[in-house]
Amino acid sequence: MFRLLLWAGLGYFIYRMFSPRRPAGHSQSRVQPGRGGPGSTGVGEKMVKCSVCGLYVPESEAESANGRFFCSPECRKQRRRK
Ligand SMILES: [Zn+2]
Repeated sequence: MFRLLLWAGLGYFIYRMFSPRRPAGHSQSRVQPGRGGPGSTGVGEKMVKCSVCGLYVPESEAESANGRFFCSPECRKQRRRK
């Protein structure tokens, strides 16, 4: 019985140690590109459409050339080749 309480206390202690490292409600972390689908990041970053494949990427992650946006250097090269 006491052992269970000890483990519960230990678990709570570990939880308390780690919880301040996760800032709540203050999302400054970078958005993972792709995977989420178009417009599902919800962080307020502007999404731009790739001129080649039509994928939506955050503006900070996008490659840009001549006023167009590309999701990756590969797409930018593809555009240039045409
Ligand atoms: Zn692309």
